[in-house]
Amino acid sequence: MEVRFPAFRAKAEEVLAGVSGLDGEEDYRRLLCGDCPFYHHGEKENEECGSYRILRKLLEAGALDLGNAIKALS
Ligand code: SF4
Repeated sequence: MEVRFPAFRAKAEEVLAGVSGLDGEEDYRRLLCGDCPFYHHGEKENEECGSYRILRKLLEAGALDLGNAIKALS
């Protein structure tokens, strides 16, 4: 069975397990952009689309639960 949003899932599971956090740009890029076809890892010219900005703000505000998100995307 195809795993949907594998990069999001992998990073979210790391965060939930305490292996890593959401401490900066690279963490949010891994979580929110890793499954996006427009993402170029490590390149400076990556833009911040509206979805990225909204989801990052929700995560920073504690308004998006990663565990629930993983379940909803399964
Ligand atoms: S900011 Fe948006 S468009 Fe850009 S790589 Fe991330 S998800 Fe994709």
